[in-house]
Amino acid sequence: MKKISEKKRNKKEDSKRIKEEMSQIFIKEQKQNDVKKNLNSNLNDKYINYIEDNNKYGFVGLYNLGNTCYMNSSLQILKNIYPLTKYILLENKIEEGIIIKEYTNLLYKLISKNNISTEASEFKEALSRYDDYFFGYEQKDCIKCIISVLSALNMDLKRKEIKNYYEIINENDEEEIKFKQSYNKIIKNKNSIIFDLFFGFLKLLNKCRNCDYKKVVFQCFNYLDLSVFDIDKNKKINNLEDCIKYYEREIKSEFKCEKCGGEIIMKNIIYKLPKILIICFNRVYNNEHLNHLVKYPEKFNPIDYFSEKPKLLFPSNTKEENLYSLNGLIIHYGTAYSGHKISFCKNFFNDNWYEFNDNSIYSINYIKNEILNLKHAFLLVYEINQKELYNNLEEIKTKCDDNYTNINYKNLININKKIKRKKKYNNNNIINNKKNPDGDYLYGS
Ligand SMILES: [Zn+2]
Repeated sequence: MKKISEKKRNKKEDSKRIKEEMSQIFIKEQKQNDVKKNLNSNLNDKYINYIEDNNKYGFVGLYNLGNTCYMNSSLQILKNIYPLTKYILLENKIEEGIIIKEYTNLLYKLISKNNISTEASEFKEALSRYDDYFFGYEQKDCIKCIISVLSALNMDLKRKEIKNYYEIINENDEEEIKFKQSYNKIIKNKNSIIFDLFFGFLKLLNKCRNCDYKKVVFQCFNYLDLSVFDIDKNKKINNLEDCIKYYEREIKSEFKCEKCGGEIIMKNIIYKLPKILIICFNRVYNNEHLNHLVKYPEKFNPIDYFSEKPKLLFPSNTKEENLYSLNGLIIHYGTAYSGHKISFCKNFFNDNWYEFNDNSIYSINYIKNEILNLKHAFLLVYEINQKELYNNLEEIKTKCDDNYTNINYKNLININKKIKRKKKYNNNNIINNKKNPDGDYLYGS
């Protein structure tokens, strides 16, 4: 009995010592990062070092394991999607599979009130086994990463029983009856919280210019891939609204009408929006990375943005003016082939915005001007304004506190090893501190 408590005490002291050491290393790294930031005088006064915010939840950075900024920014964005995080932590699905196990452990670390950076190597390893895209340490794509994580989570979180089949609103609406068939077929394979939150539906319309021929097919989507370049007009598109208009434009089909031989027009129409809407700006055109500012709103009402009148665009029980709010975004500095990615997230405990740049986190003073004018933004997350999705905040804190000591002890020892490895990596990468022609930073990691 005595031995065990002594062991426990030693373990506790070890943990405390490692934690102190880690804080020292962390502060040192933080200072180095501040030097980098200070060089860019434009940004300097808008950042406050977050380290003063002790005892707050959700401020854990992720070390770069070698070109993993794409994964770090994607994971911070996903962590910040409260309805998903809440479900995973409160429903406790840790036994359902290796992906959900590693993801849950990662969430505990990222949300805990411990302000010490961690890393996502266990999760990356599990994800690589699911999707070999994530093997290795090359720079990769954020949207592919996010979609792959969601698809892996969908696999582990599938419900055994299907309860939420689509229910018809208007019995006389032929389109809606067709939509119901598509929806109920898809939900059989995707019956999970991932489907509930992230999946919307497109209506693919083919119609004849000459007669009444019309064909409608429904297809699900979990993000909108929007072009920021209008090929027909050969010009850049400058705001989200126009990107959506361009996405829903009419396109001449090469097929002729099977009834009259007339011209067929094709159109993609957003028919049902997901609760969490992920938008990706496709900025690569002719192998070039388009860096112009595409304006995006902090809040928007789908009625103003989409061509279909929104019977099914959003749940009918919400009447708020601005139904969707910006919750997170990712920016990319550099070219189409290299550069650095940083995410900006609205913390769900305090509603303030923070920059997550690998293991550094900064709070941002002037949210509206800065967050809404990031010309390198390419990935946006909008969330529906439904209060019931955002309850149980205190429960999440308790849950994270309970898992804090246990996970962090192992975690800290791991990080100690990783930092040594990372330092070695950084010494071999001298592209740090270079500026690209825009005058922005190209951190090269
Ligand atoms: Zn026709």
